[in-house]
Amino acid sequence: MSSKQQSHQRVFVVTGANKGIGYEVVKKLSTNHPNDLILLGSRDQKRGEEALVQLGSPSNVKVLVLDTSSKKSIEQAKEELQNKYGGHLDVLINNAGIANNDPSLKALKDTFDTNFYGVKYMNDTMSPILRDNGRIVNVSSGIAAMTMKECSQDLKTKFLDPNLTDSQLEQLFAGLFKAVEEGKDPATVGFNPVKLPGSIHYFLLYYGTSKLGVNTLTRIEARDWEKKYSAKNVIISAVCPGFCATDINGNAQGGRSAELGADSILHAVYTENLENGQFWRDGNQLPLESK
Ligand code: NDP
Repeated sequence: MSSKQQSHQRVFVVTGANKGIGYEVVKKLSTNHPNDLILLGSRDQKRGEEALVQLGSPSNVKVLVLDTSSKKSIEQAKEELQNKYGGHLDVLINNAGIANNDPSLKALKDTFDTNFYGVKYMNDTMSPILRDNGRIVNVSSGIAAMTMKECSQDLKTKFLDPNLTDSQLEQLFAGLFKAVEEGKDPATVGFNPVKLPGSIHYFLLYYGTSKLGVNTLTRIEARDWEKKYSAKNVIISAVCPGFCATDINGNAQGGRSAELGADSILHAVYTENLENGQFWRDGNQLPLESK
């Protein structure tokens, strides 16, 4: 492929795309962009290759091995983009996510490593190669806004401070990590789980807080983009795919299809003049704190 062709070809990266909502996003992108390149992110090469076969091995989709909880893996994925695929990126969809329902510090750390730091390191690493008119979608959850509602007033004020920096944001989570490490109730440092029936307390607390981080980070990244990077007209969004029946929730009853979740994400890719740094579901803006 000539460098001229490469410069016209748009490059899409979708993390955690070997199954679930990410897989459906790749499937739709593959059909919508026959002349572009869609990189199907998978932390496991074999699972990625299997997903590619399941898609029918379209020529515009390639597997990109990428564990978003590992800085090394993210760096290697960037090198692969540079060595094999022209070294630029147009659309980055940070979809990979996990949920744990376990009170341990390890569960909290694992959840944050993929759901929050994974998004932050992906964006810090990939933003320098994003081109003009690029889009970044950070996949979040409606539980983020419900979690904000349950935070102490002091924490809420800090999360919503328009001047909050990304390092100050990380510091806000340090209190939660310290409390869990010391065996204290996270409520003593202002973090409370969303109140829903059932025994999913820690799922809601750790997962919800990590996604609250994603929403807050999205706002900060959009605000600071021009100070840090050269690409013009880049829009960064947080998106809830809606409650979908997938492996993350044991294919919960009442969940909608992963395909509809993918449509919610693609809204933030295709909608023109989207307000930067906002939180969306199905093309409708969501508040950062639920009512
Ligand atoms: P699935 O469990 O079906 O898919 C999750 C995907 O993320 C899998 O491909 C998984 O890979 C991958 N993944 C997990 N950890 C990592 C990692 N460290 N590096 C790379 N890939 C990783 O869940 P969904 O499709 O439902 O979730 C997609 C996103 O949507 C998540 O961010 C989730 O939080 C969000 N979301 C989902 C909702 C729902 O109701 N389903 C509601 C709101 C938000 P592997 O197969 O290797 O485990």
